[in-house]
Amino acid sequence: MYLYPVDENIISVKNLSKQYQTEQFSGISNISFDIKRGDIVAVIGESGSGKSTLLKSIFGLLKVDEGEILFNGKRVLGPDEQLIPGHKDMKIVTQDFSLNIYAKVYDNIASMLSNRDVKSKEEKTEKMMQHLRIEHLRNKKITELSGGEQQRVAIAKALVTDTSLLLLDEPFSQVDALLKNQLRADIKRIAAETGVTVVIVSHDPADGLFLGDQLLLIKDGKLIQQGKPSFVYNHPEHTYTAQLLGNAVVLLSEEAMKLGITAKGESVVFYPEWVELKSGWNSKRYEVKDVYYKGFYEELLLERNGVTIRAIQLNREEHKKNDHVQANISRFLEF
Ligand code: ADP
Ligand code: MG
Repeated sequence: MYLYPVDENIISVKNLSKQYQTEQFSGISNISFDIKRGDIVAVIGESGSGKSTLLKSIFGLLKVDEGEILFNGKRVLGPDEQLIPGHKDMKIVTQDFSLNIYAKVYDNIASMLSNRDVKSKEEKTEKMMQHLRIEHLRNKKITELSGGEQQRVAIAKALVTDTSLLLLDEPFSQVDALLKNQLRADIKRIAAETGVTVVIVSHDPADGLFLGDQLLLIKDGKLIQQGKPSFVYNHPEHTYTAQLLGNAVVLLSEEAMKLGITAKGESVVFYPEWVELKSGWNSKRYEVKDVYYKGFYEELLLERNGVTIRAIQLNREEHKKNDHVQANISRFLEF
């Protein structure tokens, strides 16, 4: 008989609340969720929504007001309950990286490993530098690196030890677009290879959609939706979620009516890619007010009866500004 861990969840956050001593509400409020072992969980929310507060609480760096965090079923102790705040079986990469700025890149990473097996120490450090594409920086001091390079060193440093839970706070905030795509893919690959569970916090919804096995959306300190990225995208529970994840079009029901949509709810919400464009004449004609170039596609700003919507055009320049086009809103959500 196999002895599986009692619980497949590595983390359980239960009714967690933390309010900072400020006039207005700030912090997090009554947040509960579980994290499955081996998953990448992406926590997405605007700046100030409470993401770092949540991450630091999980690691045991913040004294929470209410609720608890279980790590493998055991309560995570707060900073007032132990000598050195933080959990020894988790690694956190905070927004300030916490690197030894006078030491070289190589030594920063290698310092995490014991000297008992020097060869293995060297191999692991080399491998992790390759993973994060920083081999060429090995002999540079941290002070000689860009923010994005420091960020990669910090991630390498956290990953080089066999940690079971990695907490990343805005790991792509300082890297530019090209590198960000690489780094996202790298983290996904490393997580799959090592089986490490990752909680990644970001203000960029694209990070969550790309990386997350689970997506958690927080707004004003509250968890507003949780699920697989594709599910959350297609079944947003709030208008806000659809706007954040897919730049959705939001219409009042009166406006929707002018487009021939009868809705029971107060508002009608749809993503631009849910609008079907057709050439030809019919009563559902829209005027193309503007065309936004987006690379491999264009977004059209369309107007009908004084109501504007947006649609995606994959065949570039098929419809141009001032053209008339038939648009069918085949799918929409009501709120
Ligand atoms: P995020 O990481 O999503 O940007 P934070 O968790 O850092 O958000 O902060 C959430 C809210 O709590 C913000 O309004 C922030 O100003 C406030 N806050 C964070 N840390 C403190 C603190 N030490 N004292 C007072 N307010 C804080
Ligand atoms: Mg933050």
